[in-house]
Amino acid sequence: MLGLNEIREKYLYFFESKDHKRLPSFSLIPESDATLLLINSGMAPMKPFFSGAAAPPAKRVTTCQKCVRVIDIERVGKTDRHCTFFEMLGHFSFGDYFKREAITWTWEFFTKVMEIDPNLLYCSVYLDDDEAWDIWTKEIGVPESRMVRLGKEDNFWDIGSGPCGPCSEIYFDRGEKNGCGSPDCKPGCDCDRFVEIGNNVFTQFNNDGEGNYTPLKQKNIDFGMGLERLACIVQGVPNVFEVDTITRIRQRVSELAGVSYGQSERHDMSLRVVTDHIRSTVMLISDGVQPSNEKRGYVLRRLLRRAARHGRLLGITKPFLCDLAATVIEESAAAYPELRQRAERIQTIIRLEEERFLKTIDAGLSLLREEISKIEGTVFGGDPTFMLYDTFGFPIDLTLEILEEEGLSLDRDRFDELMAEQRQRARDARAELVNSGWSTVDLGLPREVTSEFVGYDTLSCDATVLAAAEGILVLDRTPFYAESGGQCADTGVITGESGVFRVEDVRKLPDGKILHIGEAEGDLPSGQGITASVNTERRAAVMRAHSVTHLLQKALRGLFGEHVEQAGSQVEPDRLRFDYTHFSAPTPEQLAQISEEVNRRILQGYSVCVDVMTPEEAKAKGAMALFTEKYGASVRVVSMGDYSMELCGGTHLDNTAKAGSFRILSDSSIAAGVRRIEAVTGLAALELADLFESRLRGAAVLLKTTPSELVDKASALLTEHKKLQKEMAQLQQKLAGGFIDGLLRNACEVNGFTLIAAQNPDAASLRQACEMLRDKNPDGVNVLYADEGGKVTFCAACGPDAVKRGVKAGDVVKTVCALCGGGGGGRPDIAMGGGTDAERFADAVEKVVEILKSV
Ligand code: ATP
Ligand code: MG
Repeated sequence: MLGLNEIREKYLYFFESKDHKRLPSFSLIPESDATLLLINSGMAPMKPFFSGAAAPPAKRVTTCQKCVRVIDIERVGKTDRHCTFFEMLGHFSFGDYFKREAITWTWEFFTKVMEIDPNLLYCSVYLDDDEAWDIWTKEIGVPESRMVRLGKEDNFWDIGSGPCGPCSEIYFDRGEKNGCGSPDCKPGCDCDRFVEIGNNVFTQFNNDGEGNYTPLKQKNIDFGMGLERLACIVQGVPNVFEVDTITRIRQRVSELAGVSYGQSERHDMSLRVVTDHIRSTVMLISDGVQPSNEKRGYVLRRLLRRAARHGRLLGITKPFLCDLAATVIEESAAAYPELRQRAERIQTIIRLEEERFLKTIDAGLSLLREEISKIEGTVFGGDPTFMLYDTFGFPIDLTLEILEEEGLSLDRDRFDELMAEQRQRARDARAELVNSGWSTVDLGLPREVTSEFVGYDTLSCDATVLAAAEGILVLDRTPFYAESGGQCADTGVITGESGVFRVEDVRKLPDGKILHIGEAEGDLPSGQGITASVNTERRAAVMRAHSVTHLLQKALRGLFGEHVEQAGSQVEPDRLRFDYTHFSAPTPEQLAQISEEVNRRILQGYSVCVDVMTPEEAKAKGAMALFTEKYGASVRVVSMGDYSMELCGGTHLDNTAKAGSFRILSDSSIAAGVRRIEAVTGLAALELADLFESRLRGAAVLLKTTPSELVDKASALLTEHKKLQKEMAQLQQKLAGGFIDGLLRNACEVNGFTLIAAQNPDAASLRQACEMLRDKNPDGVNVLYADEGGKVTFCAACGPDAVKRGVKAGDVVKTVCALCGGGGGGRPDIAMGGGTDAERFADAVEKVVEILKSV
């Protein structure tokens, strides 16, 4: 088995043999990069060489870089593949070789040096990177079934400006048992089946900062691969914590805690967390980080305290991390010899920090003890527990542990209640303000003050703050639409001189005041002039869905009749839900008809007009409305060409063509005589089409064909499948026939009988085989058995002439079974039996021969 240290060396050596210069790992503290807290990849310290700000020491470089990713802290111990500290193997080309060499060498390293089974490796390329695709499939010979094309998020490296380009990743398949089971599971899925082991970045473009990509003169290669993950695969262990060097650290934690690994999931998790955190702690301190309350120092403090916490959970009460650090130093010194020189400093810092943390805990502890001494009975109150947690930051699991030691139980209900209350408090305060009307909401505004809604014509306007409260803002005028008539509220921002307010929801009170609900940054006092801006893209999508809802209603009435009425609706960005009265389910053809009708009307490009009139006038004009509802003195009538006219307070497109397209997702029954259509418009309709297309393409790739030939291919495959099944059945029969023929050839003659005694390949075909033998030889006596590991089945069959001479199958079986540890019986021509000992079959046959001889 290759150890982690050997794998590291083999990698660096391999790339040295390809003319790379080996550099030592850079420090975890970035040298001249203010944007980065800690080095998190092999490439990070190389940035100046890529950008051209500094000259690289060689055109080809290889490193093993120490990395810290605090962003993964919550995943450590839970997934099989994340650590906060890990090492990244990398090779880099600064304007030297490009895709072909990069791909060929990585493949050579995986399959030849690491000897990984190529059938378990998958590769991804960026959507349109045909160059990389061709190298993988045509030159390396990776079959297309193990290739995927992934989108920007996974496979395009871009930090907004400067050099960027497509990626190509290599994944290792750990088998279905490690997967999430989803039919969409493939490389790129977040579960533990396909682990990404390495990533090639081909920096070939320059992003000018505005999304314009121009080819770079100097093309670069940046390859990165987690050493621990590679070791995990090469060593065939289930997770990174079972890799050789890391296992030794983990075992040391086990020793110190007196808890062995693999006994309880809760303890295992803590063992893994401590193992990981002590590695990052040691490495960070070695590179010069000191515990503090900000930046890198805070990262270190957090890791260290978290490790100490989990130590407690494992039952360790004394400082132990400093001791454990010695093991980390020992295990890592081969690659990082400086650890030995710095050992004393590393251990001292860890000891002091851990002691300090334990003191905080101790303060909480003495409070807890005091509370415990006060109680009568065995139940500890939820209130003091909550106080310890809320005011002193004393971890709740520690309280629980101590109570358990004291034989006490916690009033958990009360504690949960207090926690829930605390969480609810802020929310409540806001909800109360919103929902209870002016009588209890004192925003200091008289009743008659209302807000003017100007959002039919404009999406951004200047206005004045009338009143402000926690999470609420009232303006004199606003473009924000408050939720009503099924249309959702707008979102957006309100900006003033001294603050910004992010609008998450908008409600209209009965007295006409419009409340903007959301979060403020800074201060927006009443009287301040502000600019209110609706999120225009979102609003446009809402308008698409709303206008199309009107077209849908008209189309339904056109097809089914005037009894169709709106029974509710919900309009969201590019999504709509429309409930309507109708008795029977539309057929698929009818739904297609409705969909086509709506799409045709969209494409007509009707102008959308809004007129304000009295309800009576609207009724006379034939506008659609539920005239049973109460309307005010004037109503808005929204018409689309001469096609649709409807009473509506919502916001609409100025032309139906802007809806783009319409697609029905589903039609279902929601109550007797009431049905619901769910549909999408605009971009969501396009996304849906894209989704279907990519599924089609996925299926086509699987079946090795094109989407247009998919159906033919599928039916051809089904035909083929049926044919093969038939052939297989025939082959099986032929095989059985061949077996029978063989037996017949090897039959022996005993006193005028044809005797066949043999083992049959399986129990299922035993009787049938005997019947076939019986029908071939009228004077035949046949005994077969099948052995299924201890359970032996016998069958005997006698031809008509043999039976006439007095030999009965039932007797034969009884004789055989008696010797082979069982019993049986049956008809004269065929009989079955069972036993346990096939070894004695030969002796049993001797007995049968004797019987036959004596006839
Ligand atoms: P994941 O999605 O699994 O978190 P990633 O996309 O963040 O991986 P990259 O940013 O491409 O990974 O990093 C390059 C390589 O570094 C990965 O292929 C992997 O081998 C390794 N790596 C990344 N994060 C970690 C981690 N937290 N622990 C160990 N190795 C890691
Ligand atoms: Mg990650």
